[in-house]
Amino acid sequence: MKDEEELPLFHPSSFILHPSKKGFVPLLELITDRWILDQRPPKERVEPWRPHAFFVEPERTRQGTVEDVATLFLVNRECPFRCLMCDLWKHTTDTRVPDGAVVAQVQWALERLPSARHIKLYNAGNFFDAQAIPPADLPRLADLLSPFQTVIIECHPLLVGKRCLDFQKSLRPALQVAMGLETVHPQVLSRLNKRMTLGDFERAVRFLREHGIDVRAFILLRPPFLNEEEGVAWAKRSIEYAFDLGVGCCTVIPTRAGNGAMERLQEQGLFSPPRLDSLEEVLEFGVGLGIGQVFADLWDIEKIFACSRCGPARAERLRTMNLMQSAPPPVPCECRKQP
Ligand code: SF4
Ligand SMILES: [Zn+2]
Repeated sequence: MKDEEELPLFHPSSFILHPSKKGFVPLLELITDRWILDQRPPKERVEPWRPHAFFVEPERTRQGTVEDVATLFLVNRECPFRCLMCDLWKHTTDTRVPDGAVVAQVQWALERLPSARHIKLYNAGNFFDAQAIPPADLPRLADLLSPFQTVIIECHPLLVGKRCLDFQKSLRPALQVAMGLETVHPQVLSRLNKRMTLGDFERAVRFLREHGIDVRAFILLRPPFLNEEEGVAWAKRSIEYAFDLGVGCCTVIPTRAGNGAMERLQEQGLFSPPRLDSLEEVLEFGVGLGIGQVFADLWDIEKIFACSRCGPARAERLRTMNLMQSAPPPVPCECRKQP
């Protein structure tokens, strides 16, 4: 693996064409909240009293069983952070949703879903952001969640604090907090505009673990500014780092375009989505560590198929790896023989 000093973060393409300034400006100057917002395509229409999506899917537990997890994508006010790669704002509102709306969304989904032991309440941001999930809804949510064994929510490490412990105390199920680690590459992490250092992530993990709260980390495979080989190496390093801190579970997300800013970086050669075989390699590595669960996020996975003959079978292999936490033999295909 290369040291971070060797990584070509400051090669000539770190200067990017900026139309309004009529010339090239350093990338560091360009990646601001304003620029990221200016690249956005329009949001999609959402309804504050209905979840954006909900489904039940199986997931491997730490104990080695495979159990159903209800996953709800809640609608609420968009996250105040402006991460460079984020596209979650597409299904959010501009203003705070009324008190009771989030509770109604959860009720709506639970009335329509088959029963499950665990539940993820993903809200395209931070569960403990009072502008996203109105605090008045939390006690009623805790009641609704009492039949579950585990409740998984997501939050930026900087918003992990007392409100999280108060919610934990009000819950009958165990609480798990999912946080975006993204990458342990310090320079890339700072360019993601997440306003988080590795120290912030470590403090949040320590705080949660001290209070008996499990942590799930989201890790980007090939974030911008890294080539394929570097993207794989830093994803592996990020998984190891997360487990060393006491994170129990890592989800590896193939970095995708779709938010406008990522397309601009792609046009400048500063971002390319990872290859499917890289995701296979990182997942094999992660489950091979045998420390905690490692999952590949398979949402929109067909977008990174390079070969239509083996793509679906390889996606199926990843699904099997997610559930079994072991690697079946690779899918044979003519394309593997090509240079
Ligand atoms: S903190 Fe999460 S939801 Fe908020 S902008 Fe960053 S990636 Fe998106
Ligand atoms: Zn193939």
